[in-house]
Amino acid sequence: MSVQVVAAKMAEVELKDVPNKELSAVSPRTPIAEEKGLSNSELNASAPSPTADTAVVKGDPSPLSSTPNAVKMPQASAMKRPDPQQNGGEAFVNRDGTVAEAPRMKKIQFADQKQEFNKRPTKIGRRSLSRSISQSSTDSYSSAASYTDSSDDETSPRDKQQKNSKGNADFCIKNIKQADFGRREIEIAEQEMPALMALRKRAQGEKPLAGAKVVGCTHITAQTAVLMETLSALGAQCRWAACNIYSTQNEVAAALAEGGFSVFAWKGESEDDFWWCIDRCVNLEGWQPNMILDDGGDLTHWIYKKYPNMFKKIKGIVEESVTGVHRLYQLSKAGKLCVPAMNVNDSVTKQKFDNLYCCRESILDGLKRTTDVMFGGKQVVVCGYGEVGKGCCAALKAMGSIVYVTEIDPICALQACMDGFRLVKLNEVIRQVDIVITCTGNKNVVMRESLDRMKNGCIVCNMGHSNTEIDVASLRTPELTWERVRSQVDHVIWPDGKRIVLLAEGRLLNLSCSTVPTFVLSITATTQALALIELYNAPEGRYKQDVYLLPKKMDEYVASLHLPTFDAHLTELSDEQAKYLGLNKNGPFKPNYYR
Ligand code: NAD
Repeated sequence: MSVQVVAAKMAEVELKDVPNKELSAVSPRTPIAEEKGLSNSELNASAPSPTADTAVVKGDPSPLSSTPNAVKMPQASAMKRPDPQQNGGEAFVNRDGTVAEAPRMKKIQFADQKQEFNKRPTKIGRRSLSRSISQSSTDSYSSAASYTDSSDDETSPRDKQQKNSKGNADFCIKNIKQADFGRREIEIAEQEMPALMALRKRAQGEKPLAGAKVVGCTHITAQTAVLMETLSALGAQCRWAACNIYSTQNEVAAALAEGGFSVFAWKGESEDDFWWCIDRCVNLEGWQPNMILDDGGDLTHWIYKKYPNMFKKIKGIVEESVTGVHRLYQLSKAGKLCVPAMNVNDSVTKQKFDNLYCCRESILDGLKRTTDVMFGGKQVVVCGYGEVGKGCCAALKAMGSIVYVTEIDPICALQACMDGFRLVKLNEVIRQVDIVITCTGNKNVVMRESLDRMKNGCIVCNMGHSNTEIDVASLRTPELTWERVRSQVDHVIWPDGKRIVLLAEGRLLNLSCSTVPTFVLSITATTQALALIELYNAPEGRYKQDVYLLPKKMDEYVASLHLPTFDAHLTELSDEQAKYLGLNKNGPFKPNYYR
């Protein structure tokens, strides 16, 4: 089935598939819950959302008229999901529905609105601008991101005049001459992004995103390049900035610019550069975006603050990150969200694969690159046995490490026990372990007291979203000496000579110190592409000014597009079986709350 048909099918979906109330902008907190006096955390903790649940039961009354086909496009409208963060930002719901303390997210603050970018400060001045971007934007993403990084070239890209081979100068990147290297990176990534490549093929002459003007703000990596080139193949025009000042692969940005994309990003942007790049993406005479693809919410908020009128033409926002989704729910709650938004972050295929499998693969990579540690026989304590913790534990166990787990939730704790891990309190093992890994999404998990008791050489790192899990601030005291031994590796030395090895200053390890598997990013990128197609093609009125989840069926479709990589053969339900289970033969095969 072509992508055009796919898009058309998606657009065809009628509201009969979804009860009206699920599509209406109702308050995320249901009156029933309020009557019962349930707290927000209680509401959030009960993972299945009432609306989503109802949608599954009521939402698919008539079997969809299509043949069984694993890669058939789903036909269902996205579901609204209750705002998981109703505690005024104090608590948030993890991607599996559990409630945790909100990461220390700074509310977005904008660079001086009156600042004129043309009156640019000096290089030093640029760096010394007061903090104005979200924390996630400054989280280092990948130290290995740009192997052709020409750090010897100190000239700011903003001070360079560059053109691609066709004479186009509508971009701002480090060095256009790196385009060939970038192209190779993109080609390598394409091999591990089968679903996007399949979407391109299916599109053939048809363009479900024809007329779409997508402005994007994500990590600019080879994987993003594959997404952008897919969107372009589907008919979209794209302008892009980086969502993180460190994560841009300069050679990839060069390849995109050479290919005609308007990219404004380089590795090591200043904060002023960051906003300047975003502004260059949206502030262009004769070009106005009608779709937003955001990771972290900075782009969305820039448009809100600087160009609110643009929303008249914008059909929707697709947001990937926990942080960005949180902001969207806040806007929605305040009644200020003026276009529909898709929460890609909470798609099952994102959450289950990104959190679990990505971390299972990248924890070892991050530790190895920074410390060269051997895992066999090492004693490791993993704090938190959610998706990320499960991935980390599985990888370390497979390498022969002795793994302990700490948990607060008896269910996850029991899972850890059943998986063969010793459940302990941190203080029971802190003196003996060689590695401490936090992945709770919580704060103050490893405090100074524990750090004081660790043995010499203990490696300490975090895999959670924000740097709140390890009390790094408590280590910045006069009696302790900090020694930078490698990029992202600090030895913190106690007066008696004991040293601990702190990785990435407590920021998330894999994204700071290694790369993440392309295949996992393929799943997320496919979800983003489908969300854009859906929002762009949705008939007027299908989506209100609210935050929606992609329906289970679309999650299933994303998964099915990745199955051919494994030569996997999916079993089809017989008519009899489908009837027996009360399912449509083409899915969805699970209720929306199923994770
Ligand atoms: P999750 O909610 O599934 O798991 C977190 C677990 O930590 C829960 O089971 C919770 O009960 C437990 N926990 C909370 N406080 C604790 C404490 N004080 N001690 C011990 N256990 C505690 O969440 P997840 O999907 O595993 O994600 C965890 C964190 O990792 C989040 O911050 C998430 O944003 C981040 N994340 C990182 C990556 C990455 O690539 N590094 C990928 C996805 C998510």
